[in-house]
Amino acid sequence: MKKTINDAIHDPVQLAEVIRPFQGTQTVFPVDVFQIAESLNLFIKFARFESNQAGRYMQPFDQDDHIHLVVLSATDDIQRQRFTLAHEIAHYLRYVYAGISVEIIEAGKVDRKEEEKFVNTFASHLLAPNEKVEDVLPTFKVGDYVPLENIGEMSWIFGLSPLAMASILAYRFDLIDGETDPKILKHRVTTYLNDNTDYDVNKFLETKSALYCQVIDAYRFDLFTIDEHQERRKVIRYIYNEMAGEGIDISIEEVAEIFTDLDLHETKSQFMKTGKQRVIEALGQCEIYRMLAQNNLTFPSLHDIRNLHRRLYQYAPHPEAGGTFRTANASVVGSGLSVVGFQDLPVQWHSLSKEFDDFADVASDLSNSEYLKRALEFHYSLTVLHPFPDGNGRVARAFLNWLLKLRDIPFVFFEKEEMKKQYLGSLSSIDAFNDYKILQLLYMRAIISALAD
Ligand SMILES: [Zn+2]
Repeated sequence: MKKTINDAIHDPVQLAEVIRPFQGTQTVFPVDVFQIAESLNLFIKFARFESNQAGRYMQPFDQDDHIHLVVLSATDDIQRQRFTLAHEIAHYLRYVYAGISVEIIEAGKVDRKEEEKFVNTFASHLLAPNEKVEDVLPTFKVGDYVPLENIGEMSWIFGLSPLAMASILAYRFDLIDGETDPKILKHRVTTYLNDNTDYDVNKFLETKSALYCQVIDAYRFDLFTIDEHQERRKVIRYIYNEMAGEGIDISIEEVAEIFTDLDLHETKSQFMKTGKQRVIEALGQCEIYRMLAQNNLTFPSLHDIRNLHRRLYQYAPHPEAGGTFRTANASVVGSGLSVVGFQDLPVQWHSLSKEFDDFADVASDLSNSEYLKRALEFHYSLTVLHPFPDGNGRVARAFLNWLLKLRDIPFVFFEKEEMKKQYLGSLSSIDAFNDYKILQLLYMRAIISALAD
């Protein structure tokens, strides 16, 4: 007879076997631990911890509260987040099915160390069951052992950190040669990885990207909202970074002042009359944000980018120039991207509009990760189309945030330095290699980071 959670609750290895099928009809590797949490009605929230804590399971506050929550560190890498989540899932199950609560552990009725050992064993077996490890071993074993140089690659099969993989091989299978005392093993693995830069993480971008897709697809974006005060601070940082990233010399204090004044006095804001270019553009950026903040936002057409551009320049000396296409060739500063020639612009705009309408038709059937992928393809196309003389990056990113908002995904922006290096760099890699993975990864990580704001 099939085992239930109740049958297996006192055996971490059996419990892992019972829980793994919660990821769906098929067993996939790396195990979709985020989907498992979702299927178990366990909610996930990302946060930035003060200490180097990786995660925490939060019991419901009282009997009327039915929310079981796992808080994960937004700054950890994805492999660690996965292991932490698996660990916290075990705490959750032990609480619900065996009554092992924080209070009981704190009262010393259950040994904390033993409990931690239990949940870690569960996590390790959930993500890397013996059977699957044995299946892939022939590829990685050399003689009697798995050499350190093979551990990085092997770890990606399970979506584990190299250290977690090495621990499994050492303590479950005795397959690591030499000293394997936990501290020494940790030292050996990290030293090996640091010294061998040819362990090429880029080789595993596809897997890494797939792991982030699992997060984006299982995450309940609709559940968590931030308060007005946090939202305001975030918007000011957003506007500031959008401008600073474009090389506009403005301080965050000045942005805050302009934003607040516009909010209070609308078109009577004292900043309307200054005539300073950076103030005009900051006001425009505020207006773009106000448009995206509307609650009744509907799915845009490509034409709405022209509306965003009009907003960006609505306080400029010639606001009628907003939303009009460029009439000269252009380039994207600092990216090496090849931009569409201005004569080709109308035709290309027309065909991209049609493609976008097709996307709009199917958007609601797409998973979050598929939706994001398509949205980023349009984002790239818009960047190389570069329809306006100025402000293209800002409106293209605002347009992308519009699409994200329709899925309750928080808006994304990049800090000044990130913008130059990672963001423009990943757009260039599409130009050079037709490879969207780097841009997708960048956005998925930025989304997780934004969830912790
Ligand atoms: Zn724990």
